Amino acid sequence: MEPRTSGSLRRTGRGPGALESAAILNRRAALLGLTSAAFAAPALAAPPPLRLSGVYRQGGFAFGRTTPRADLWLDDEAVGRAGPGGLFVLGFDRDAAATSTLRVSGAGGSVSHVFDLAPGDFDIQRISGLPQDQVSPSDPALLARLKQQNALKQAALASRIDTEDFRTGFVMPLPAKSWRRTGRFGGQRVLNGEAKRPHYGTDLAAPKGTSILSPAGGVVSMAASGMHFEGGLVMIDHGQGLVSIYLHQSKIVCQAGQRVERGQKIGEVGATGRATGPHLCWRMTWRGRHMDPMLLVGQTAPA
Ligand SMILES: [Zn+2]
Repeated sequence: MEPRTSGSLRRTGRGPGALESAAILNRRAALLGLTSAAFAAPALAAPPPLRLSGVYRQGGFAFGRTTPRADLWLDDEAVGRAGPGGLFVLGFDRDAAATSTLRVSGAGGSVSHVFDLAPGDFDIQRISGLPQDQVSPSDPALLARLKQQNALKQAALASRIDTEDFRTGFVMPLPAKSWRRTGRFGGQRVLNGEAKRPHYGTDLAAPKGTSILSPAGGVVSMAASGMHFEGGLVMIDHGQGLVSIYLHQSKIVCQAGQRVERGQKIGEVGATGRATGPHLCWRMTWRGRHMDPMLLVGQTAPA
């Protein structure tokens, strides 16, 4: 996680947090300096332009266009910079608050936008008859393996390629008419009668062996079979922290580090890991936020 500015800033002058916050202070001072420069010479230094599109709700997202390399802050968390063409993406978590504030800061000043986020509409999903080690593992050897696998997943989720691959929008990752949706994003999970974390994917049932296609360009940040919960697992970084995820694959035909284009085959549908039948569990994350991947289908960045 990158540092947060709010709250900590006021304490930095005298508190013990002064050293670790020095970088934040410098950055904030630079921002303030630039902002007053904008007031002094408005004709020469204007705040960056800002155009937005997207689905503003829990689990949704926004695409934006501004000055190339402008600094981005979401609810006072530094969330990187716009791409070389001025594009950026933001994700709104399944449990995001009712509003979220974006600040974009360029050479001529900064501009803010408050998103009003509609509440998500999440169901309750009950699945029974799962092997108990797929619900609440307790075997020490398995727990050790899960810890290793979790570290691999966290590293792949932390991938940050500097591209704007999301700009053309996303297509479905399965061929038309090959799938039907069997599980919606965000449902509260009850597994073998135990309340669990929400379901962070969209489940698409399809015959085993159906081709899985990259829904946008990107770089594969993980390609591994044999994951305990996920089975055959692929993650693709589409730029600026937007990572899409594909679970339960019977076969993987890409490898970590490989560049993939929209429509390129990455693997095949299966029922590996925690699955009761062949399906693709499709997920999308942005800097730790869980989003509904279906909401990005057919959406493009502002012109
Ligand atoms: Zn799923």
